[in-house]
Amino acid sequence: MNTNMEKIKSLLKKKDVKLTYQRIKILDYIKNRKKHPTFEMIYNDLVKEIPTISKTTIYNTLHVFIEKGLVTPVSIPGKDVRFDGNSSWHHHFICERCGRIIDLDIRCEYLEKGEVEGHRIKEFYGYFKGICRDCLEREKI
Ligand SMILES: [Zn+2]
Ligand SMILES: [Zn+2]
Repeated sequence: MNTNMEKIKSLLKKKDVKLTYQRIKILDYIKNRKKHPTFEMIYNDLVKEIPTISKTTIYNTLHVFIEKGLVTPVSIPGKDVRFDGNSSWHHHFICERCGRIIDLDIRCEYLEKGEVEGHRIKEFYGYFKGICRDCLEREKI
């Protein structure tokens, strides 16, 4: 096992999630391999490596991960739900050309404090929409 896998295992242990091969593979996929995948992407990629994996297993596993705060669902109107392996609060940039969802490293004092004008923040949805720098470069816009 490489160090990534060791990290995944210790994360699961820390959150009291029973270790199974499939759970380790699913969390590794979301955290290390694909950024913000949809349910279909997770299934289609993992079933190639683990032919016995079922959609139900993935569905149930994601449910556990979300409950334990290991994965955050990102819902964007008009798009399939994405699963985010970066479970700390952060802003996103959505590219209307290539459809990528990119993590942004924006400092936000409200998120750091968990409070805005005396209101306690429990969930956060923040994104910008536009054309990402790779698409801008490719299309020379
Ligand atoms: Zn793009
Ligand atoms: Zn993200």
